Amino acid sequence: MTMRIYKDDFVNIINSHTCLTEDGKIVIFDPSDYVHFVRNAVKSLGRCSYCGKILPPEKLTIDHIVPQTRGGVTTFENLVPACEHCNGEKGFLTISEYKDYLWLKENLTMRDAEIFMSSVERNMLKGRLNKEYVLGRKEDITFQIIYLPIDAIKVSKKFDYVGFSKSEYRSYSRYLYTYGFLKKPLVVSKNMYLLESKTLYQVAVENGLKEVPTVILDYVYCTDV
Ligand SMILES: [Zn+2]
Repeated sequence: MTMRIYKDDFVNIINSHTCLTEDGKIVIFDPSDYVHFVRNAVKSLGRCSYCGKILPPEKLTIDHIVPQTRGGVTTFENLVPACEHCNGEKGFLTISEYKDYLWLKENLTMRDAEIFMSSVERNMLKGRLNKEYVLGRKEDITFQIIYLPIDAIKVSKKFDYVGFSKSEYRSYSRYLYTYGFLKKPLVVSKNMYLLESKTLYQVAVENGLKEVPTVILDYVYCTDV
């Protein structure tokens, strides 16, 4: 159902202004641009990954294959372009759950599909699925998540508070308070610069976490910033 996208697919559409490749590596001049860059690159693929509809980038949305609320991170491997309909329908489901949902809708009834979806949601809200950072084990996407001392993670001076949202901060804090662990892992470059979610990092620091779940992107380097 889904076309898998690998980072190699992006080599030709990298914006040399912010990034360049060298031996298949992506070099980033400003880590705070990373998410923006990845999202644009994914959208430029121009086709919904689920129904195959061809659309201009501005009409496409970004789907996290392993949803963010399930511990999915913003990396090339975990993002696909999707039309608004498919993205909305998939919601917080993983790919395998979404397949089950579509099968139920097709072969049984819409009601069965909805019952299935609410059972997934119930488990999710209990935090069960996030506890061990179960990241799409039934799919072929795996993120190597390791616990790193928070001191090991570097934050670029350029990583300002653009996009810092109080409601996001509150939501991450509440999640940590309720379940005792971060809502999703941090994402860092090979040389340990934070690439995503300054807000999440901030929550970890301010709550005195010594170690944080982290995904290291081996193919991304940040210049000395
Ligand atoms: Zn679609």
